[in-house]
Amino acid sequence: MSDNGNNPFKIAQKQINDCADILKLDQSTREALLRPMRELHVTFPVHMDDGTTRMFQGFRVQYNDAKGPAKGGIRFHPDETIDTVRALAAWMTWKVALLDLPLGGGKGGVICNPKELSIHELERISRAYIKAIAPFIGPEKDVPAPDVYTNPQIMAWMMDEYSSMLGKNQFGVMTGKPLSLGGSPGRGDATARGGLYTLREAARKIGLELNKATVAIQGYGNAGSYAASLAESMFGAKIVAVCDSKGAVCCRAGLSSQTIAKQKQSTSSVLNCQGSECISQDALLEMDVDVLVLAALEGILTGKNAERVKAKVIVELANGPTTPEADEILYKKGVHVIPDFLCNAGGVTVSYFEMVQNASMYYWDEKEVHERLDKRMTRAYHEVFDMSEKHHINMRKAAYAVAVSRVVEAMKTRGWV
Ligand code: GLU
Repeated sequence: MSDNGNNPFKIAQKQINDCADILKLDQSTREALLRPMRELHVTFPVHMDDGTTRMFQGFRVQYNDAKGPAKGGIRFHPDETIDTVRALAAWMTWKVALLDLPLGGGKGGVICNPKELSIHELERISRAYIKAIAPFIGPEKDVPAPDVYTNPQIMAWMMDEYSSMLGKNQFGVMTGKPLSLGGSPGRGDATARGGLYTLREAARKIGLELNKATVAIQGYGNAGSYAASLAESMFGAKIVAVCDSKGAVCCRAGLSSQTIAKQKQSTSSVLNCQGSECISQDALLEMDVDVLVLAALEGILTGKNAERVKAKVIVELANGPTTPEADEILYKKGVHVIPDFLCNAGGVTVSYFEMVQNASMYYWDEKEVHERLDKRMTRAYHEVFDMSEKHHINMRKAAYAVAVSRVVEAMKTRGWV
């Protein structure tokens, strides 16, 4: 994930520097934005099913909380590094600012491979990690949520552990919880749904008819699978290729999201999906489609493959899937990139709605969540689009300009810079 040439935090810092140039920020403000405000590294023991005890390593980074409590997911991944978490925490900061949420940016991670853990081991790791970082988080300080390989059940265990440490229910300490424990309606598909609202707006701008559009989806976890079913139900678009960590499949006549879901459920992979043929994951990225959805990890489109991308629109549901070199190439080619921290902000936006509902002890219905989400995503999309037109910069740089200005304003008003 983060070799020397492709370190996500180096990429995040380059993006901040580019934005600081555009906004003509002074040196101290630039420096304040280039590093996380706080980070915690923890090592903790977990009893494994075979009777042994293993030490695990985890992180929690609060990148910037000028605008409110830090907010951001927790990833469980074997290749997790502190620099990946730093980059993701930075991107969270810009994401919440872009959506104008009263929050800061944070991220957490544990180095582990959930695919090799039993459910009991997963529960013990979740509880041990939250115990280790408990003094660092809290509803008014830092509120974690699900991310890669974590889910509502894990959030429930973490909330329960934190609550028992404090001796009272603390539903507001985590978001993305199950509905039975203070979760918000509409949180499950919020990342994909929010991304598709921005795709709808982008399609209007570039004159793409989504009911005739072809879609390839890279990554088939929470975001990717909901993107497939929503692209069908919201727009009537045709899914022609999908992939997961095991491989990619394609079918020009179209794959139904239901068929893919069945295959994934019975074999844990999209491979051999009925009516499809196997292709390479690289071939999927370069397919002649209208919409390419990136819904896996960072560093997917790079200087090496961006030239061969044929999609008209890129929907970045993952965090950091496109490197700065790829951004330049895609911009020159006229590909409309909906940048990650705009496109995938639906998840944290509904997390914010969950915080509001937890604090007020009053729960909304799903329709209300969808309407409020649509309004915020649509507004953010147009703010970014207008900024990109006004300054002749790509959509990512425009998103940075909008978001970083807001964070800087809060920092200046607080007297930090
Ligand atoms: N992990 C998600 C993200 O990267 C959601 C974060 C949240 O809900 O706090 O945006």
